[in-house]
Amino acid sequence: MSEPLQHYAKVAMPLPLYTYFDYALNAEQSQQVVIGGRVLVPFGKRKVLGIVVELSNDSTLESTKIKNVLECLDQVALFDATLLKLAQWLAQFYIAPVGEVFATMLPSALNKGASATPAAIYYLTSKQAFSSEDKQRAAQLLARSKQQLNLYERVSEHDLRLSQLKSEFSNTVIKGLQEKNLIELVEKPEPTGQWQQQIVLGSKQRPNPEQSIAIASINQASQFTVFLIEGVTGSGKTEVYLQVIEEKLLLGKQVLLLVPEIGLTPQTVKRFQRRFGDVVAVWHSGLTDAERLKVWQKAKHNQLGIVIGTRSAVFMPFADLGMIIVDEEHDESFKQQDGLRYHARDVAAYRAKQYDISLVLGSASPALETLHNALNKKYRHLQLLQRAGGAAMPVMKLMDLTGLPLQSGIAPAMLVRIEQTLKKGEQVLIFVNRRGYAPALICTECGHVETCNDCDTPFTVHVTTNNLQCHRCGQNKAYNAHSFKPKCSVCSSQSVTTQGVGTEQIQTFLTEQFPSYSCVRIDSDSTRGKRKLNTLFDEINQQKHQLLVGTQIVAKGHHFENVTLALILNVDSYLFSSDFKAPEKLAQLVTQFSGRAGRANKPGEVWLQSYQVSNPLLQDLVNNGYSHFARTLLQERIAAHLPPVSWQACLRVEHIDQKTALAFLVFANSLFSQFKHLRYFGPFPAGVEKKQTRYRYLSVAQADTNQYLNKALEQVRNSLHKHSLSAKVRWAIDIMPADF
Ligand code: ADP
Ligand code: ZN
Ligand code: ZN
Repeated sequence: MSEPLQHYAKVAMPLPLYTYFDYALNAEQSQQVVIGGRVLVPFGKRKVLGIVVELSNDSTLESTKIKNVLECLDQVALFDATLLKLAQWLAQFYIAPVGEVFATMLPSALNKGASATPAAIYYLTSKQAFSSEDKQRAAQLLARSKQQLNLYERVSEHDLRLSQLKSEFSNTVIKGLQEKNLIELVEKPEPTGQWQQQIVLGSKQRPNPEQSIAIASINQASQFTVFLIEGVTGSGKTEVYLQVIEEKLLLGKQVLLLVPEIGLTPQTVKRFQRRFGDVVAVWHSGLTDAERLKVWQKAKHNQLGIVIGTRSAVFMPFADLGMIIVDEEHDESFKQQDGLRYHARDVAAYRAKQYDISLVLGSASPALETLHNALNKKYRHLQLLQRAGGAAMPVMKLMDLTGLPLQSGIAPAMLVRIEQTLKKGEQVLIFVNRRGYAPALICTECGHVETCNDCDTPFTVHVTTNNLQCHRCGQNKAYNAHSFKPKCSVCSSQSVTTQGVGTEQIQTFLTEQFPSYSCVRIDSDSTRGKRKLNTLFDEINQQKHQLLVGTQIVAKGHHFENVTLALILNVDSYLFSSDFKAPEKLAQLVTQFSGRAGRANKPGEVWLQSYQVSNPLLQDLVNNGYSHFARTLLQERIAAHLPPVSWQACLRVEHIDQKTALAFLVFANSLFSQFKHLRYFGPFPAGVEKKQTRYRYLSVAQADTNQYLNKALEQVRNSLHKHSLSAKVRWAIDIMPADF
């Protein structure tokens, strides 16, 4: 007997809802429907695409209340059983609406209803078998068109992809042959698993002993294992990835490599393509919806070997996943800051466990939670202590700013070092955490600071665009220091002056100081668009610029071989933050930044300017390096019972009215207080206290185990939803927040 047909589908809607909805299926739909596929259903007055999570014979709802499914879209599940389980885990772990989870996991083209089946490929095929007679006949027929004859001969040998021929033959030539009825266009699905024959293995480096140990350990793992490769910058971590990836590819297994947004440069991608040929696909926010859909389809249908992608690539469906690697695993871009606030590293760990495969985490400055797991032996700890290829590690030094006359934030001794470096034909890299000319405009008569009222934050002065800009909301107003004397908007005095330094000011200053050298700015203003950043990097490597001034962008991913002097203008702002993660972030920044400098024969020098040179944390970092510093910091966290030895969640609330936002948090705190083993703190102002007229506050809840925290927060969430303010304020739960 055949199985009884199932008449109801439980559907996850792409809405902030915590439950599934029952819909009825007619007889035909009952046969079409797949679990994990999309259905079009009526929801209120709208039609919505939902995901079928379950099928059943009955529903707890009255049958008259159940609406019918309008259409089944997929023949193949978008979410197989493993991905369905992942979605449910995400909803549980992040206390998130399950409907939103499904939508977050899919590329937007699929959320909008695009077909999930890979597009067929067009081939040109010859109409007849190719005998010598045919050849003669064709030669006569095509006597006047060499191109057409050439194409005909090629296609006659074997079918060829239209897309490949398009670069060699014009449309007229192809059309002409089709009209003569000699060739025709056919559609075929792309074969699956064929990438394995397309792998072209490039030559590899001979691993040094540390790399050999890492490679062998990773290759030996035959079940779920997490590895931490703690390797100094330039120690050859990428080379290790390449070699362990090769091992998996040769077994026919696919590999996912997650990289920070900014780390996904063409240089990185080219390195992988040179090594493995055409089996590498890239996934990032710069792709169009259609391009992303294509990668998604290819991964699912086993038409590619490697996906190199940013955060959301962690949801990619794979036909046969063999390993996940997270490069620069400490990077904050792996944490999503809105909607489903997931951390791609945590999701990667869950997936690796699901598939019983290895997860490789790599960094020169591992996150403390990762280091903690490695030191606890939960993760396998691999260390690369030497730079591969013989380059020396840069030397770190502190520059005491006390009592020094600074010029655009730079100490006199540093200017001398800069000049010496330039004269040797080497490059100088300067880091400052502010873009623009200066972070504030102040009146020396009345003390008024020009401020964005919507965000209660000082306007940043920009001279290249001649305006004042609010870096929180983007609002701006005209300002020109040269053409007219700006007036204070309160007392109308003309003695207004800029305060602090940003990238523009340093660039202006250094250009004046060293006119015979080119000074370039590397920040989000000067590098809009990915291509521009890469052009800039190329120019720097071609030595077109000698002075490089940049923000966070320069701290990531790119090694500048001829930089032998690197300077961080002001590290102190990180030392006085209320965020307990600030020292960790500072150390990661400094470590990554230092990693940009130095080459084989000349070690780089990295200078940190500070008014706090005796600060023990700074001393530890500079004298003993990240690895030692991180272990010290970890001990402090353990002593203070902070993550990673405890679990935190943050409740974020936003509202135009300060009191309303606070009132909601006071209520939340009263809920937290009902849990005996939950500690809570707050309300605090968020790091960005006001943005676009909305005040932002938060409370932090902390527990010893994730299980306890999770249970408590789920209950808190349910109670919060019942509160009258719940629909008024904007609020979100953020599990293990990256910042506060
Ligand atoms: P990381 O990813 O740790 O920054 P890379 O893998 O990019 O390090 O290696 C840094 C440099 O050292 C690269 O130029 C790379 O080609 C080179 N390199 C890596 N491994 C070796 C090796 N075993 N022998 C020689 N050079 C190596
Ligand atoms: Zn004034
Ligand atoms: Zn603003």
